Amino acid sequence: MSQPALADRVAIVTGASRGIGEQCARVLAEAGAHIVLAARSVADLDKLAGDLGGNATAVACDLTSPDSARALVAAARDQFGRVDVLVNNAGISHTRPVQEFDLEAFQDVVDINLKAVLVLTASTAEVMMATATGGSIINISTVAAGTGTPYMSVYGATKAAVESFTRSAACELGPLGIRVNAVAPGLIETDMWARGRTIPGLVDRLEAAVALRRWGTPGDIADVVGFLASDASRYVTGQTIVVDGGMANMMELLPRRD
Ligand code: NAP
Repeated sequence: MSQPALADRVAIVTGASRGIGEQCARVLAEAGAHIVLAARSVADLDKLAGDLGGNATAVACDLTSPDSARALVAAARDQFGRVDVLVNNAGISHTRPVQEFDLEAFQDVVDINLKAVLVLTASTAEVMMATATGGSIINISTVAAGTGTPYMSVYGATKAAVESFTRSAACELGPLGIRVNAVAPGLIETDMWARGRTIPGLVDRLEAAVALRRWGTPGDIADVVGFLASDASRYVTGQTIVVDGGMANMMELLPRRD
């Protein structure tokens, strides 16, 4: 009988307490990996670890702090001696008109969506280099990184930076057998959209812009992450894979805030 795709591998998934990250953890665990689950909500991580039946370890982590990010990777290294997969999924949105920017409001967005991705990638790459076993780093971006999306300029800018970083890191780490890719989700029904989905008519209007005529699920993203984590994608690096059901005309469909 053949081995599961990720047997004996260790994967860190940030933002694993709910939404896309939780589903990524489930898909990678199903493929045989041991998952290091990271987020601030320890009770949710413990519950998920219980569901995964011994194939997961919960590590409390606040990614606004670079020290906390480094400690997460160190915890995985100390416990397992290796890290094969890193899913940089934790992220927060920031919906605000350009003229209402204030530094304090978007500092967390920059720290979590961008700075933590750089710190976690650097620390993980160090572990992967030490074990010389290669690896796969997967950064969760957004379609808003590549389009003009009203009121998401800071959010989109952090993710566009992540996509650029993905390409550069792939060039540097490729010779060491470490692949770095990004996934850009479209509209995915998670807590991130909890408030937006209460705006009258918005759910249907946005859905009308999706070629496949439905919002995505966390599983739609997690399955692509599973592909990028596995050897099935062994010749793919430096790419951003858009997983959005085929979206168009978002800019016309978003509501005005004035
Ligand atoms: P979500 O349901 O709001 O989950 C966000 C996750 O990030 C949670 O597990 C949260 O855990 C974690 N997180 C937030 N702040 C953190 C911090 N300071 N330290 C550590 N973890 C933190 O969001 P989601 O929709 O699953 O989004 C996941 C990723 O997909 C994000 O990068 C997002 O930008 C991207 N994305 C989402 C969509 C969408 O439509 N939903 C579209 C495009 C891209 P705790 O609160 O427990 O810390």
